[in-house]
Amino acid sequence: MKIPLVDLKSQYQSLKVEIDKAIASVIETCQFIGGGNNPYVKAFEAAFSEFCGAKHCVACGNGTDSLEILLKAMGIGPGDEVIVPALSWIATSESVSNVGAKPVFVDILPDTFSIDPSKIEEKINSCTKAIIPVHLYGLTADMDPILDLARKFHLRVLEDCAQAHGAEYKGRKAGTMGDAGAFSFYPGKNLGAYGDAGAMITNCDELSEKARMISNHGQIIKHQHSIEGRNSRLDGMQAAILSVKLPFLNKWNELRRQVSTYYAKYLDAKKFWLPPTPCGFKHVFHIYAIRYSGRDRLLDRLRYSGVECTIHYPVPLPFLNAYKKYDFSLSDFPVAKKICNEIISLPMFPELKEAVVQEISTIANQV
Ligand SMILES: *Cc1c(COP(=O)(O)O)cnc(C)c1O
Repeated sequence: MKIPLVDLKSQYQSLKVEIDKAIASVIETCQFIGGGNNPYVKAFEAAFSEFCGAKHCVACGNGTDSLEILLKAMGIGPGDEVIVPALSWIATSESVSNVGAKPVFVDILPDTFSIDPSKIEEKINSCTKAIIPVHLYGLTADMDPILDLARKFHLRVLEDCAQAHGAEYKGRKAGTMGDAGAFSFYPGKNLGAYGDAGAMITNCDELSEKARMISNHGQIIKHQHSIEGRNSRLDGMQAAILSVKLPFLNKWNELRRQVSTYYAKYLDAKKFWLPPTPCGFKHVFHIYAIRYSGRDRLLDRLRYSGVECTIHYPVPLPFLNAYKKYDFSLSDFPVAKKICNEIISLPMFPELKEAVVQEISTIANQV
């Protein structure tokens, strides 16, 4: 038995005719590069901003760039500090360093793994300019206390939505609660392209205009470079593929939630910690991670049986070699440290069948 962690092939099979047609039409019309008036990119931007309920969407090259460009558009740079959670993919903190600012890590909540709002205030000083809450695994951060702190200390809020397309918090969509939302369409994300791709959403006209300029060499009108920017544009082909897939995103997210109920039904809840969905949150289960004190043994057992599993993420950001210079001690982020030793991500994709989840669970329960 071989069970993959994600299954991009079966999704392609289900939309093959439409996707192949979309790719062919981009090639036939030679609309390869975004940034100007590319009709495929414009159509996707319009559709995605409508999906999120945001006024603007600016597509770009990838999710990491979307964070970086938004920080730049917010005027954040050398001498500034940005608060980020201790558990995320490195892109979150990397984007802060890449604009010349300093990432300031905050420990996470033990039950939802997102940034602990009660530990943010102690890290705020006169250099602090923004908070980047990460909607990890498809569950949004606890946004109300974060937004309160941002108002109190005049900080920007940039939501890292790379794992949370379509997730909701108290009826509000991920990416629309702070000043802006950053999205990745890396192939394995809930909405994935067939290469690198990303997008930024915001309700702020000025941020949108700045982000658009930065992502396309500082120009809105061709050859009128008001500032120096960079090259981070969405390809026509990726935009066309994403436009075919977007109408199915809500259904896929619903199926992911369904898969999570199968795991809850078959996994031994006395043995494992299973992910809760707190009241008022709409989870989109980008990742289905459980906790178990004998995690490494469980990982070996599942892999040996052909079940592909992984760890998101094995080392908290502050303890990566990249941040050795800050010289953190293990006691600085006790929750992230403990959780990273216990989490394991099980197969999760919309097409995963109940019988297969049952098989995976049976193997796991015997550990
Ligand atoms: C995937 C991811 C990113 C980066 O997206 P890329 O498109 O790979 O650059 C950023 N933050 C988080 C939390 C992610 O999971």
